[in-house]
Amino acid sequence: MGRPLREKYTRQPTPFCAGCGHGIFMNAFLHAVEEVDLDFRNTVFVSGIGCGAWVPSPHFLADTLHVTHGRAIAYATGVKLARPDLDVIVIGGDGDIATIGGNHLIHAARRNVPLKVFCLNNLVYGMTGGQVSATTPQGDITSTTRQGNPERAFDLVALARGAGALHTARFPVSQPRKLRKGIVNVLRFDHFSFMDVLSLCPTQYGRANRAARGFEGPSLIWSMLQWQKDMVVDREKLDSGEREGRIPIGEWYAES
Ligand code: SF4
Repeated sequence: MGRPLREKYTRQPTPFCAGCGHGIFMNAFLHAVEEVDLDFRNTVFVSGIGCGAWVPSPHFLADTLHVTHGRAIAYATGVKLARPDLDVIVIGGDGDIATIGGNHLIHAARRNVPLKVFCLNNLVYGMTGGQVSATTPQGDITSTTRQGNPERAFDLVALARGAGALHTARFPVSQPRKLRKGIVNVLRFDHFSFMDVLSLCPTQYGRANRAARGFEGPSLIWSMLQWQKDMVVDREKLDSGEREGRIPIGEWYAES
C-alpha cells in the first residue's frame, strides 16, 4: 500500500473547523491529483485570503503563493505569463475569488488564461467574520445582513460562462465522488477552467442560518450536508422536470 495522500502531498494539519466542507474538497482534490499524476514540482498554487485559501498554502508540498485579498487570479496570470510551462492552480473562497476578486475572474475567463480556478463557495466570508458575499442567497442571515440579505446572488457558473470560459463545472462536497471526477476533468483541461465547488461553513453560515434553514438535529454539519444534497440536481435531469428551483451540477463545455 502506498503512502497516505496526506503524507505525500501535505506538510502539516489544516486549521479548518470540525465539519468544514473545505476538508472534504481537499481530500477529493488530492485524490484527483493522484489520479492525473499531477507533478507538484511543476505546479504553482495561488491563493488569496480566507479559509479556502488555506487549502494549498501553507499545506501543499508545492510552490504556493499566498497573496492579497481578491488578487489570486491576477498573481496567477503573472506566474503563467512568466512560466507558461508550469501548471498554475488557484484555490480560494467565494469572497476572495467572486466578490472582491470578481473582476479578475471574468477577465481571466474572457482572455482564456490557461489557469485552473477552484472557488470554494460556502455562501459567506468565513475567516473574516461571516459577512455577506456575492454568492449569499437572498434573504440569508450573515453578520452584515442581520435582517436577511436583500441582494441577489451570483450564479458563478453562469458568470464564468458568460465571460467566455470554455470549461466550467459545479459540484458539491456532499457528493465527493462526483466532485473528485469533476476535479480530474478540470486538471486535464488545457484552457481556462473554472469550478464552483459548493462547500459548507457550519461555523459562520450554518450557525447564522440554523433556525431559518431548519438545520436541526445533533449534528449541524450532517444537517447541512443533507440540505445541500437536496438542493442540487444533475444538469442532465433539468429537462425532465426535476429542477424545482434546485441548483444544477455537472460540467459545461463551450466551443474554443
Ligand atoms: Fe470552514 Fe467556516 Fe471554519 Fe472557515 S469558518 S474553517 S469556512 S467552517
